[in-house]
Amino acid sequence: MAVWKCDKCGATKESRCKPRKCPECGESGTMVKEGCEAKASSKCSRKRCS
Ligand SMILES: [Zn+2]
Repeated sequence: MAVWKCDKCGATKESRCKPRKCPECGESGTMVKEGCEAKASSKCSRKRCS
C-alpha cells in the first residue's frame, strides 16, 4: 500500500493507486507518492485503477 500526500494541503491517504484528487481539499493532480515508489507503481496497473 502506498501513501499519497497532497502537495497543496498536506493531507495523506493510503491507496494502491494514485488518487485522482485530494480527499481534503478536493484539488486534482496534487497527490504525490510518499516512499516505496518502484514497488507501488509496478503493482498499480492501469486496469485496476478506477
Ligand atoms: Zn489537498
